[in-house]
Amino acid sequence: MNRIFVKQSSYVLETLRPQVFSILDDTIGGIIRPGMKALVKPNMLSPSTPESAVITHPLVVRAVAEYFLAKDVHPLIADSPAIGSFGEILRKGGYAEYFSGLNVEIREFSGSVQRDIGKPFGMIDIAEEAATADVIVNVPKLKTHSQMTLTGAVKNLFGCIVGMRKAEWHLRAGIDLDLFARLLVQIYSTLQPAITLVDGILAMEGDGPGRSGTPRHLGYLIAGKDALAIDSIICRIVGLDPHKLPTNKAALALGYSPAPYVLDGPDYKTDNFRLPRQTPLIYGPRQMHGLIRRLLIARPRLNKSKCNGCNLCSAYCPAGIITVAKRRPSIAYGQCIRCFCCVEICPEGALTMREPLLGTLIRRFAHISPAAFSKGPKVPG
Ligand code: SF4
Ligand code: SF4
Repeated sequence: MNRIFVKQSSYVLETLRPQVFSILDDTIGGIIRPGMKALVKPNMLSPSTPESAVITHPLVVRAVAEYFLAKDVHPLIADSPAIGSFGEILRKGGYAEYFSGLNVEIREFSGSVQRDIGKPFGMIDIAEEAATADVIVNVPKLKTHSQMTLTGAVKNLFGCIVGMRKAEWHLRAGIDLDLFARLLVQIYSTLQPAITLVDGILAMEGDGPGRSGTPRHLGYLIAGKDALAIDSIICRIVGLDPHKLPTNKAALALGYSPAPYVLDGPDYKTDNFRLPRQTPLIYGPRQMHGLIRRLLIARPRLNKSKCNGCNLCSAYCPAGIITVAKRRPSIAYGQCIRCFCCVEICPEGALTMREPLLGTLIRRFAHISPAAFSKGPKVPG
């Protein structure tokens, strides 16, 4: 029977190692062969300390790497960060320190190959190391996400789209949240990770997934073969209806649903977990969409006192609509696709998602809630 593990854990290797070894033995132990190509895919979004909860903690990844080494497999640990040099992520994120002396390769994805992920996207570029791995271990961070609500098991694999191609996909999906969620599900279904092991020990609540979010200790390690089931469990842990997670909705629309599972561990729930502030990305009559989006819909807002003028938001905005003059960014809101990449990327947490006051008043008056873009068929689990 398919098991989903929820373990109480901590960033102490002596605690983590036996838990991770036991979970991996139970789930993928039977398919590991010496010399096989194993990819471990953490979340290495940007140069951030483990305490900021932006990246997967290196000790969780180290425990996975040690498991493979014990089976005569030299895993590759790789990701395609949104910003910053990979060396800086290794240094600041603690990977250089925690992996010292361990014979594993940690690097950025180096190239892409084309894979057909199905309609309407067709052939897309996916990291070669992910597309050709014999086994993928998906090791996300449990974080909130201003656009997709949570960045858990399915969303983590978007990092297998290399470099600026990620921004291109944001631009192509535009404000169509359902289309973007579908893209994520189809990438997941193409890559088929053998197991997902979520670092929910120090999670992130509030306006994640970048520095605008707030670290929150949960103490959970959540693991299993089925990423959709894992995401549903994560939803329950943080108090979100699993039917409202965009990737769960997209999966169900595509005919995927979490496989039946047995929960190994208590069905945890966290009190008062702060989900990101969200509002509908569009509503109202179609002819009015341009105007409504410009005047009423949530958009990135700058906190000038936090901004250091680094220009990163401008460099990574998929729509190319942020200009920085005299170290102050300015956004052409009329062309903003509300992808919130700038919020995700800002290293100072100077950008947050905010709804204009007029939008809040009108939405409340018209009884339009964030659920307006979260309605969908029921997702089991
Ligand atoms: S808003 Fe953030 S990313 Fe943009 S210039 Fe300021 S500090 Fe840099
Ligand atoms: S300004 Fe921010 S939210 Fe708008 S398109 Fe650019 S990155 Fe996306």
